[in-house]
Amino acid sequence: MQTKYIVVLGSLLSGLGKGVVTASISKILDFYDCRSMPMKFDGYLNYDCGTMNPFRHGEVFVLDDKSEVDMDFGTYERFVGADMDGSLSITGGKLFSELIKKERKGDFLGRDVQFIPHLTDLIISKIRDASERLKLDFLIIEVGGTVGDIENSYFIEAMRQLSLAEKTVFVNLTYVPRLSSVGEQKTKPTQIANRNLMQLGIRTDIMVCRAETKLSSEVKQKIALFSNISQDMIIEDPEIDNVYSMPLEFMEQGMDKAIFGKLEIKAPKLNRLKVEAWANATKGMRRHKNKVRIAIVGKYTNLKDSYASVSAAVEHSANWHKINPEIVWIESDLIKDDDSAKSALGNISGMIIPGGFGKRGTEGMIKAIEYARTNGIPCLGICLGMQLMAIEYARNVCGIKDADSSEFNRRAANKIIDLMENQRSLEEKGGNMRLGSWPMSIRENTLAMEAYGSDKAAERHRHRYEFNNAFRTEMEKHGFVFSGISPDGELVEIIEWPNGKGIGTQSHPEFKSRPERPSPLFNVLIKRASDYLKFSA
Ligand code: GLN
Repeated sequence: MQTKYIVVLGSLLSGLGKGVVTASISKILDFYDCRSMPMKFDGYLNYDCGTMNPFRHGEVFVLDDKSEVDMDFGTYERFVGADMDGSLSITGGKLFSELIKKERKGDFLGRDVQFIPHLTDLIISKIRDASERLKLDFLIIEVGGTVGDIENSYFIEAMRQLSLAEKTVFVNLTYVPRLSSVGEQKTKPTQIANRNLMQLGIRTDIMVCRAETKLSSEVKQKIALFSNISQDMIIEDPEIDNVYSMPLEFMEQGMDKAIFGKLEIKAPKLNRLKVEAWANATKGMRRHKNKVRIAIVGKYTNLKDSYASVSAAVEHSANWHKINPEIVWIESDLIKDDDSAKSALGNISGMIIPGGFGKRGTEGMIKAIEYARTNGIPCLGICLGMQLMAIEYARNVCGIKDADSSEFNRRAANKIIDLMENQRSLEEKGGNMRLGSWPMSIRENTLAMEAYGSDKAAERHRHRYEFNNAFRTEMEKHGFVFSGISPDGELVEIIEWPNGKGIGTQSHPEFKSRPERPSPLFNVLIKRASDYLKFSA
């Protein structure tokens, strides 16, 4: 069928979970065996998220095809299940650089290049390309930011133009506050936000209302009246502790019927097996009798979004093992010696050292790793975490006291972690780390083999530094295990402690974890953690 378009906009404020709404709609359409995919527009002028600080923007998500994209893509992939590609991430930076390249080539000779039609046409052409290439029944377009922002105004105008040419449904996410002084839900912000959208030539088809409590029927009536929609086009977006229940929650309220109805298409047959599989994989989340306490010892812990996929992967694996996860966030700077390590890590089931850049906080992570290794606490090191597990082992077991990474000390005598030749000559910073999906070979009788159950696996990467092969033999002599190596034998991908409790990977396995298919390495961590120390929930 010809692609239909569903545009998800936020008209009132950010932070309401447009990504979850977009992902849920895509999941609902998948329940009907329709081919759909989310696409995201971001107005910032960066080419991609690769050069952004996670403290400001949350985690940088990485796709198989090396794209460094907005963290919403993590939400999309976790819901949709399919692997996405970078052409679905459109930023202001990508658009303007393409447009200016065309202008320099002479594509617009004699004309002044304008937002309308040149930029808006380019946006629409990206939409059409993606729909055709991916053979989509539905493309669900999330416009980042809020209606009224300068940054996304040209995207919104392009969506208005799209709706003139194609069957398009506009989903408007808003917020209905409750004033405690009068004990009433207030609809005025939604009315005004909707009016602002109408001034831009867009009418809301489906209104998704985020609210702390259920909407009263008077409130629904009022929103419907002032937004020119019927009440069954108002979908509540309640506060819930399990985001994965959202697609089913929306379906119960008739989101599926609303979409098919607005597009004037007959609803395809619901694939009940898919609905059941999703419900079974997600409904038990955080409802189990026991729990494991997993410490994440990182350097960006003040903004939890910096580690969104790591916590999601913990959640998926814990649920898979029918146990609740309690994540304890530990700022690594606070671990300075044995005493502080003991007070931070004395009562945990397992530990994760996540990815990161730069020296700050790394000595605290190394201390935490030493504490976990010497006390037999299960540990998973991710990217920077793996590199630090190698440095800790080199220093404290192999006796290479000044073992270091050239990222932290360029003049270090013993660079256990170092830049590969191909990274040394790079002058620019954007898009040139080791990125995207990389294959590896897994060694027999290792934790890695227990995790993957195969001698081959692939995970996504995002880093510049690597384990320095000059130290492989020496560390192996001291028991350090190299259990995952690139197929050409050159790159160390997975390392392990000889005690069978610690594993570190140069990749970011969290990016491929899904509720229905948790990450193999997180599964090993959670299994070891629940054998080590369980609590009642
Ligand atoms: N800073 C390290 C590197 O670039 C690790 C990166 C990461 O953890 N993603 O190699």
